[in-house]
Amino acid sequence: MKFTSLPTSVEYGKTGIFRGHFSFSNSKLTEYRWPICEIRGKQDGPKLCVSAGVHVNEVAAIEAAVRLQKLFDPNHLTGVVSIVPLINQPALYRYNEYVCPLDQKNINFSFPGDPNGSFSEALCDAIMNEWTASAECYVDMHGGDLRENVSKFAIYQRTNDASLEEKARQMALCFDSELVVGLPVDHMAKPGRPPTAFASQGRLALMSEAGANGLVDEDSIQFHVDGVLNVARTLGMLDSKVTAFNRARIVCSDYLWIESPIDGEFLPEVEPGDRVEERQRLGKMRDLFGQDLTDIVAPRAGHVLWRMTHPSIPKGSPVLAIAVEERKA
Ligand SMILES: [Zn+2]
Repeated sequence: MKFTSLPTSVEYGKTGIFRGHFSFSNSKLTEYRWPICEIRGKQDGPKLCVSAGVHVNEVAAIEAAVRLQKLFDPNHLTGVVSIVPLINQPALYRYNEYVCPLDQKNINFSFPGDPNGSFSEALCDAIMNEWTASAECYVDMHGGDLRENVSKFAIYQRTNDASLEEKARQMALCFDSELVVGLPVDHMAKPGRPPTAFASQGRLALMSEAGANGLVDEDSIQFHVDGVLNVARTLGMLDSKVTAFNRARIVCSDYLWIESPIDGEFLPEVEPGDRVEERQRLGKMRDLFGQDLTDIVAPRAGHVLWRMTHPSIPKGSPVLAIAVEERKA
């Protein structure tokens, strides 16, 4: 990685606050530069990497990444916090939903990536093997693209490595979530989200989700900010105490996408965070004459993670997602 600093910044790698830009070494990525704030504490310790803006309309997460830059003091920090507030640089000022406009791929589902692949694949590879290479933990913040409303939740990856899974779960519980989703172990067989790709290399990554419809709201910003600070506290990087938890933090063990079987207009009957029973109607699909076409029904009992807010849903696209509660041993 090559760094250029802002005039007010310390030199890269020195104790203090670095502010500037970097480029990755992969030639597929050299056209772009990423903003970065890296706070290096007086005491050596772990590195925590934090990002937002993989989805550029998930603005509460991006604002959280901006605020976090001012919440770490090098004099009271053990280790390094590295913050990249907007990963999907090609989508900046273009407002693309979900994808990188250069290859139309969803970066969030392109991990672990490929140095010889498309832009998004090369970027995921560079995130894993350059920027976060020495990180103890990577947190990628999300939530609320232009047509969706998400509950407040955190995602970690379950693995057959018991100590990694326990640590990942502990870090996911640092967020004051309604739901804490441990992705099933079989996700490890296919590439996708950062928690999965990192776990398959014995490393730790989390996602936090909060926000709606491209709106900057204080509750969602605070959710992300407090969660990341609690992760840093739990890693022993800060002396301050973990904040109090007010939400239920219901631990879930599966993530189900519920798709519409037809083109139509979705009329939801549930909201993010709601508990639903197996076979419960979640909403109806109607046509533009107001005629009911079909019911959307819960395949299993669980909790609504998020729902689409724009009614128009094409066949095969999700209307919402459900997290299935973990069975207590
Ligand atoms: Zn997202």
